[in-house]
Amino acid sequence: MIENAPVLSCQHGGLTVEGYSRAAVQTYWRIPELKLGFDLGAQPWDFMGTPTWFLTHTHLDHVAALPVYVARRRMMRMEPPTLYVPAYAVDDLRRLLLVLQRLDRGRMVCDLKGVNPGDEMGLSRDHVVTAFGTSHTIPSCGYVVWERRFKLKQEYHGLPGEQIRDLRLSGVQVTHEVRTPLVAYTGDTSPAGMDAYPPVYQAKILITELSFVRPNHRREKIHKFGHMHLDDYVERADRFQNELIICAHLSTRYHAQEVRRIVEDKLPPQLLARVRLWL
Ligand SMILES: [Zn+2]
Ligand SMILES: [Zn+2]
Repeated sequence: MIENAPVLSCQHGGLTVEGYSRAAVQTYWRIPELKLGFDLGAQPWDFMGTPTWFLTHTHLDHVAALPVYVARRRMMRMEPPTLYVPAYAVDDLRRLLLVLQRLDRGRMVCDLKGVNPGDEMGLSRDHVVTAFGTSHTIPSCGYVVWERRFKLKQEYHGLPGEQIRDLRLSGVQVTHEVRTPLVAYTGDTSPAGMDAYPPVYQAKILITELSFVRPNHRREKIHKFGHMHLDDYVERADRFQNELIICAHLSTRYHAQEVRRIVEDKLPPQLLARVRLWL
């Protein structure tokens, strides 16, 4: 195994979250069970096997490894990947890939798909992803991965199987779709981005940012730069219904110990118990 970039990991409810995220350094995540990843600030060598990625915005610490990833997949004879990126960035990213194709003398083959907030992307029969607008210094979006199940409509409960089959064969829609938000990923955002899309607070796993924790940091400034402060979490403590809240993207100004101490001191216990600091 080649260790070219740091990875932390944790498991919850049958899903593994792997990744790393520090502000201005690099951010990347993947969930192997769902065969997808978020952001490509760097690319740990063994992450290249993940075929589908969702990018939140085009700050370098979230996008720099996109060409590296595309090139590696081709070099290792893997299928061209699918990359969902904010729609405004598609043309420029295509140009970037073409320039690097010329410099590197290797073809850059991938399926770049533009995403707008509100879009919905089917991953498989069981999973669908929605995009929502976040609030940052450049246009950005977050993503929610939903599990979808098709359940028999109430009015057909109790009917014998044969009759349900006949109805279905005659073209009647006997099931309806039930969705559960599994994972929400915000990327970089100020609180406005989280507040505007309730599934963020409902997803079983929330992966989000907590760039600043020190009490003396000015929050208006932090919000203006499109980030979150610990006090924003404290204020919203009652809203989080998530089973696990991964707080990442911490500023490089902090040491892990300092962050832990401040967070343990400030967060109410029922929220703290579900928070995992990504340090
Ligand atoms: Zn960032
Ligand atoms: Zn950013």
